[in-house]
Amino acid sequence: MRVIVLGAGVVGITTAYYLARDGQQVTLVDRNQGAALEASYANGGQLSYSYVVPLADPGVWTKLAPWLLSPASPVRFRPQLDPQQWRWCLRFLAACTSARSAETTRHLLRLGHASRRLMRELLVQQPALDFGYANSGKLVVYRDTAALNGARRQVDFQSRSGGDPECRQQVLDGAACVAIEPALDRIRREIVGGVHTPSEDSADCYRFSVGLLDRIRIASPALCCLFDTEIHRLRVRRSEIVGIDTSRGRLEADAYVLATGTDSARLTRPLGLSLPIYPLKGYSLTAPIADPGAVPTLSVTDFQRKMVYARIDGRLRVAGIADITGYDRAIDPRRMATLVAEARALFPGAVDYRQVEGWAGLRPATPSGRPILGRTAYDKLWLNVGHGALGFTLSLASGRAVADLIGGRPPWVSLDGFTLPGVAP
Ligand SMILES: Cc1cc2nc3c(=O)[nH]c(=O)nc-3n(C[C@H](O)[C@H](O)[C@H](O)COP(=O)(O)OP(=O)(O)OC[C@H]3O[C@@H](n4cnc5c(N)ncnc54)[C@H](O)[C@@H]3O)c2cc1C
Repeated sequence: MRVIVLGAGVVGITTAYYLARDGQQVTLVDRNQGAALEASYANGGQLSYSYVVPLADPGVWTKLAPWLLSPASPVRFRPQLDPQQWRWCLRFLAACTSARSAETTRHLLRLGHASRRLMRELLVQQPALDFGYANSGKLVVYRDTAALNGARRQVDFQSRSGGDPECRQQVLDGAACVAIEPALDRIRREIVGGVHTPSEDSADCYRFSVGLLDRIRIASPALCCLFDTEIHRLRVRRSEIVGIDTSRGRLEADAYVLATGTDSARLTRPLGLSLPIYPLKGYSLTAPIADPGAVPTLSVTDFQRKMVYARIDGRLRVAGIADITGYDRAIDPRRMATLVAEARALFPGAVDYRQVEGWAGLRPATPSGRPILGRTAYDKLWLNVGHGALGFTLSLASGRAVADLIGGRPPWVSLDGFTLPGVAP
């Protein structure tokens, strides 16, 4: 079967990997000169299979005022003349209830644990894949007791919600956090505790994506990559997709997988599909390690500041910030300065701050934090979109599940909770 995958970010590439493994004839189309140059380029590098707490959580209501008022806040809202932004925000606030957050956590955990199993399988099957992978484990640290108590409840909830027994989590007090991650010594007085998950991984998403694409090329010479190719629109006849119009002309296939990140809502709007995907702009910095003893070996999340730290080979990757400010991908120097200041305060001598590489990317976020996967009301059109803050983490399971569906098999992991309303997977 000829399958066109629209978008060559980490989600499009993992989908192409499983499709090609099934013997499908895959064409990957992307507007950039190469793969993974948008949201998948320099993200936080955390493979957080067990830490899936959605941003839409009841705790948002108390944080809303500080988020909106403080210039250094990790979340910023700048109103646009765009009804899509307002609709997304209202749906996001509606998702900030305990029941919705718990439901999302349950579904994301299932996908996260499936991704972890697939990552283990991939590491065995593709030993030449070199992407800075480490089974680093993850420590989420809390600076206030109320937040730590919330995390304790979350850990209890997750252990009751089933999942993978290999992914046990432990709540630690502040001293125990510093004992397992001595690089946190500087803020030992501020840390009230943390959650340690030894089964989490870290890696470089860009190197993973381009490396996996190379593996597909080697195993499936029929793979066709069309870079520098803008997708203008999807062509519909009655209820079927019959092609895509691109800057290289019309392309046709037997199936189309939409994996265009934040552009997915725009591309599907003319079809009457209103995908609730809006960009959450984030920033990262990558810097060479100056003092290895001062750099965390665990991947660390500073819960209050919404910042993540991952050591990727000889460099430290720091990422954070969620700005609801539209589609502009330019780096705002003030937001970048906030990120650098946070990293410097926590790990002052760890890296060479004169050699920081800054980056900004748009997380393709749904209000609930759940990606949208599987079939649509249109024949031949499949979705693999809206992975928000967890696209690297979830990409293997969602790619495999969508490839399964296209191959006519039940998905390897249930897509319950991820499909469009009223459409069976
Ligand atoms: C600061 C930051 C930190 C993050 N940290 C983590 C983390 O630690 N762990 C984690 O799991 N996730 C993290 N994420 C989220 C993760 O990076 C994203 O969820 C993931 O990259 C989304 O992948 P994607 O393939 O859906 O989108 P993208 O990578 O954006 O890919 C979409 C592709 O589609 C192409 N495209 C779009 N429209 C068109 C068009 N019209 N024509 C042609 N091509 C088109 C684009 O060029 C792009 O290559 C982070 C994100 C950010 C911004």
